[in-house]
Amino acid sequence: MRGPAVERESVNGTAAQQPDWGDPVLLDHVTRTLHSAPPLVTAAECDRLSAAVARVGRGDGFLLQGGDCAERFCESGPAEVRAKLAQLYGLAEVIRAGTGCMAIPLGRLAGQYGKPRSASHERTAAGVVVPSYRGDAVNSPADDPRARHPDPARLLRAHECAQRVLRVVRDSWAGRPEPERAYVSHEALLLDYERPLLRGGYATSAHSVWIGYRTRQPGGPHVAFARSVANTVGVKIGPGVTPAEAVRLSRLLNPENRDGRLVFIVRLGSTLVRSLLPEIVGEVARRGRTVVWLCDPMHGNTTRLGSGPKTRPMEAILEEVVAFVRVMRAQRGHPAGLHLEMTPEDVTECITTPRPFRRPPPLPRYRTACDPRLNAAQAAEVVERFTGLV
Ligand code: PEP
Ligand code: MN
Repeated sequence: MRGPAVERESVNGTAAQQPDWGDPVLLDHVTRTLHSAPPLVTAAECDRLSAAVARVGRGDGFLLQGGDCAERFCESGPAEVRAKLAQLYGLAEVIRAGTGCMAIPLGRLAGQYGKPRSASHERTAAGVVVPSYRGDAVNSPADDPRARHPDPARLLRAHECAQRVLRVVRDSWAGRPEPERAYVSHEALLLDYERPLLRGGYATSAHSVWIGYRTRQPGGPHVAFARSVANTVGVKIGPGVTPAEAVRLSRLLNPENRDGRLVFIVRLGSTLVRSLLPEIVGEVARRGRTVVWLCDPMHGNTTRLGSGPKTRPMEAILEEVVAFVRVMRAQRGHPAGLHLEMTPEDVTECITTPRPFRRPPPLPRYRTACDPRLNAAQAAEVVERFTGLV
């Protein structure tokens, strides 16, 4: 059988955001091991999710996608995963109870271990400049520069960790009817992880994967990868995506215009969502393209307070949700749900204090390994606001 090492060469264009693994022999061993590993999810499960997403796309339900920005291997024990699932199930139930419609819980879970980064280096809390953390599947977020070296063996740990997390996810299905079960998703970023896990035309790393804003180039290898799989796939739609590019992505990723195949995850920010989204939704509709539209009110609203860590104001997050629903309604589209970075933990990463403030609010429980997450109360507020509007 042809090994994954050969497959890696066969793509069009150079893949953005791939780690410089630096150890081709170990990488080859790792990708071959993944190639022969059992699939994490089954094709039947992926198809069931797609069927549910198709219903959502027809306006007959909602999707709640959420979880950590970056999942940590060390926070993936059964108790931690059960807490994350409880949050997801609880928030889906808020939507279900408030709308009387189905709400699919879809975790950023069991694979959200690779992070795209805008800068090659970052400053640690201690003020040391080190190579950027790229997710637990690549390097460690520890302050020591040596911990930041990409290590291909981490891809195997990611697979093992995802397997353990999925066991807890499947246990949580017991007694739940089909559309209420939590499925798992992550960004298909690390092609040395995703490609070897292809089985029979499906990405078997997750029930659904999405393409990030930084790797969405229509001619690029990430889009080619997503195009090649039968799962429901998502794409992040940010300020640089023109209406024409959105249409192009929808044609590439959903050539047969199937219901439930393609999700656009809009992350324009609270201001640009008003000016840019109407044209994008309008053009996609005029071209007759079938797309499920989600609002990610997190990634377009990231700011830094002075020299402090990245944060996100609740005000802006809520504003983007409201504006998203209004635009979708005005364009006669279905505001199909939310994509949130959230945790059941009592963190202080997003700020609740309304602006302007005299001095930056303190963030005493700032624990994220990457982007600021909503805590349990904040996530509930965002979901309740959305539910009240739809
Ligand atoms: C993310 O979802 O964590 C992320 C990096 O998003 P985006 O690709 O939209 O920037
Ligand atoms: Mn993020």
